[in-house]
Amino acid sequence: MKKPSIPRLSEQIATPLQAIASPQRVAILLAIGRGEACVCHLETALGWRQAYISQHLMSLRKADILTDRRAGRYVYYRLTNASILDLLTGAATLSGLSAEAVSALINTRVYPACECPHCAPT
Ligand SMILES: [Zn+2]
Repeated sequence: MKKPSIPRLSEQIATPLQAIASPQRVAILLAIGRGEACVCHLETALGWRQAYISQHLMSLRKADILTDRRAGRYVYYRLTNASILDLLTGAATLSGLSAEAVSALINTRVYPACECPHCAPT
């Protein structure tokens, strides 16, 4: 049986890496973590404008890194594949950060100032 070609496989491997390779995209993925988050929650967590976050969310969704779910007036985003977090942890350790430091960021957080149903359940 013929081996798969390195260039073809490499393109498949590089595609998700390219989709997440910016500090802004990494921040969004860490803020979503293992849970799900709406735009207003990401706005609170990251301190960026909604339009700016939405632009990145759209690109990550197009790349199939994120999936979304609508519930009433909220759209929730979550990671299509949680192994992306392992990838981010691996990249962090290359930068000299500890895996513990990354997992502390990934843990789901509640922001008192956020009015989303996850932070302020009614
Ligand atoms: Zn929230």
